[in-house]
Amino acid sequence: MAKIAMNTPVVEMDGDEMTRILWKWIKEILIEPYVDLKTEYYDLGLPHRDETNDRVTVDAAEATKKYGVAVKCATITPNKQRMSEYNLHEMWKSPNGTVRRILDGTVFRSPILAKGISPYVPTWKEPIVLARHAYGDIYNAVDDTCEVGDKAYLTVEHADGTVTKKLIAEFKTSGGVVQGMHNRADSIRSFARSCFRYALDLNIPMIFATKDTIAKIYDGEFKAIFAEIYENEFKAAFEKAGIWYLYTLIDDAVARIVRSEGGILWACKNYDGDVMSDMVATAYGSLGMMKSVLVSPDGKYEFEAAHGTVTRHYYKYLEGQTTSTNSVATIFAWTGALEKRGELDGNEELVAFARKLERATLDTIESGYMTGDLVPLFHADVEVHKLDSEAFLRKIAERL
Ligand code: NAP
Ligand code: MG
Repeated sequence: MAKIAMNTPVVEMDGDEMTRILWKWIKEILIEPYVDLKTEYYDLGLPHRDETNDRVTVDAAEATKKYGVAVKCATITPNKQRMSEYNLHEMWKSPNGTVRRILDGTVFRSPILAKGISPYVPTWKEPIVLARHAYGDIYNAVDDTCEVGDKAYLTVEHADGTVTKKLIAEFKTSGGVVQGMHNRADSIRSFARSCFRYALDLNIPMIFATKDTIAKIYDGEFKAIFAEIYENEFKAAFEKAGIWYLYTLIDDAVARIVRSEGGILWACKNYDGDVMSDMVATAYGSLGMMKSVLVSPDGKYEFEAAHGTVTRHYYKYLEGQTTSTNSVATIFAWTGALEKRGELDGNEELVAFARKLERATLDTIESGYMTGDLVPLFHADVEVHKLDSEAFLRKIAERL
């Protein structure tokens, strides 16, 4: 069989620890035998980020802007302990944060569903795709404590020199706490565009929710911006695709989501998305089955697994023990990128290959061959075999 050709490269961002090992195996065992793989390679492994003073992360993000499609391996976000473990020059920022800032993108997380692994919510038959606005609100807030007798104000110095000042609270009988937060219209606009665009890509309806009955000005602005962008830029396309957009209160959204069959894109403000993405991921089963894609408002894509570098398994691997680490989300990061590359280039063979690899991966699990994390979640009338990390990939290759 001749290998499938690629016209344009995919931006490849290598990473750390156990996922770096899986990365190499996935390419060798599942992709390179069939595809004449063209990538522009960036090593985002922590040692190389340190050597380049994190320049490599910025270069990889810029390359993604240029080529439009990237695939990323999980990477370490250094903390104090990693500083000494890797003898780092600096506590480098999260690479995901850096790429997100440069692409001005929104992260969408969704579960990979396999028969035999049922979500805790029995009505959920299709994935719930969750979008989190990753800018502002309480995450960039300033806060302070107040004593009895204090007064706190919200003050805005306008560009024309005028000042508005509103009383937040007067602490007459007790001290307390106070917080000031913000968001930016341009960031909310980018968020809205990324969400509408991705719902169209997936051809699924979309819900956006805030608490605008309480935060009339603040959340009211989110609601208004979404409404304006929908009306002016996406309504016609949504109607043509036969999908809908609904704005509702966050309380109502939660109820609708739980009662739904899935197959919805749920756009959340920063805090709602932080909490709800963990809830949705847990309810669908395993971290190893959660994928993630960063979509920029102008349609650049970066695919990855939602989980981290699986450090605990890596230390076992270093001691020469076999691990049973789930590679499904990382495989789907690759198939997501190859499929999108194929779509953009009109390369049907590449699209078909990506879909076959996904199907082979799911068929392998559904026929009872899986990594250890899935064994306790799997309930079907087939014999279950727990495989180690590499054997699982070889089993998929057999089907492929
Ligand atoms: P993690 O790597 O997601 O792993 C946490 C635990 O979840 C693992 O110990 C394992 O449980 C289970 N798990 C996660 N993925 C799995 C998989 N594919 N197969 C089987 N089990 C899996 O999170 P972490 O240990 O908190 O973080 C490790 C490093 O990853 C950190 O340095 C962090 O900065 C980084 N991180 C990166 C990203 C990213 O690049 N997107 C995201 C999150 C974290 P058991 O040990 O019980 O088997
Ligand atoms: Mg969270």
